[in-house]
Amino acid sequence: MSRAELGRRLGLSAATTTRTVRPLIEANLIEERPPQETAGPGRPVRQLAVVERSATVVGVKLTDDTLHAVLTDPLGQVLAYETRPLTRTDATGVTALIASVVAQLAGRSGRRPEAIGISLGAAVVGRRTVVVASFLGWRDVPLADMVLDATGLPCTVANDVRAFAYAEAWFGAGLGRDPFALVTLGAGIGCGMVVAGEVVSGARGTAGSVGHLPVDPSGPRCEIGHPGCARALASTSGILNAAAEHLGCQAQDLTLDALLSPQMRQDDGVVAILRRAALAAGTIVGTLIAYVDPELVIVSGEGVGVVESCREVFDAQVEGLRHWAAAPVPVLTRPFEFDEWARGAAALALERWTLVAGDR
Ligand SMILES: [Zn+2]
Repeated sequence: MSRAELGRRLGLSAATTTRTVRPLIEANLIEERPPQETAGPGRPVRQLAVVERSATVVGVKLTDDTLHAVLTDPLGQVLAYETRPLTRTDATGVTALIASVVAQLAGRSGRRPEAIGISLGAAVVGRRTVVVASFLGWRDVPLADMVLDATGLPCTVANDVRAFAYAEAWFGAGLGRDPFALVTLGAGIGCGMVVAGEVVSGARGTAGSVGHLPVDPSGPRCEIGHPGCARALASTSGILNAAAEHLGCQAQDLTLDALLSPQMRQDDGVVAILRRAALAAGTIVGTLIAYVDPELVIVSGEGVGVVESCREVFDAQVEGLRHWAAAPVPVLTRPFEFDEWARGAAALALERWTLVAGDR
């Protein structure tokens, strides 16, 4: 953006904006782009932009069986992508794997990373310590310090949904939308909120843990016994378990894609399970809107196809929860890719890098 626009957004005078920007240009962090042709009279406007080569960061997303890693520039553009099977899930083994992937990405791209961001489905405090990651069997693991020791690079750790929300707010559909919220449907159900440019983590790292909220007390129970919580109705395992019971087969023989096929959708029982899941997702999103009044909500994750296939059920539930005096909030669905999750982790690393660069 131009200096004038930047000053307006930061509430700074023209003189202060110029004084603030100058050292960033001298440090080669920001550059002036060639002037754009203007239609009207007056001097052409020079745009300021972040220098693409000013930084390189790595984002890592951990699942129960795979490590996904991306190398990005400060604009979130992916320069290299790597996946590895997670053969060891103890913290020492995972740290060693992260160090080896970071070295490989650096070698392949010829760019040395300056920070690492790691995201996982876990409660994280202070961007450093994993409090609980049940899918890895971890408790109180100081992952950021372990990776710093192994790589020499500053490291930030966060819950995966919150990292994803952060990346969407910086580089994606959430750009310039504040407050902004992201709801993910998949192995779990989570939500990330960005308010005043900051992702909300909560006092103990568990903000957005909406998966076990009650939706339909007559529904099936989740793995820890809640009748009809969101997870029981709309998580991948909840949907597949219900469909397996209805079809008389094993849940592991089913996939979400198979249930969403035109052939399966001839089956009224399958359709009822999908509609119930879309309704549960609508309850979560509609409730979130009531609390936060975001400018935009994005729904993503591997289960997003369920919402898309029963969009009318989802929309009716969101609309039904809207306060009579509140304006409708746009809700967009977004296809799901694991490298997007890793890019979310890279956004965290960039935040870390801006702090380090700022100190310089
Ligand atoms: Zn539950």
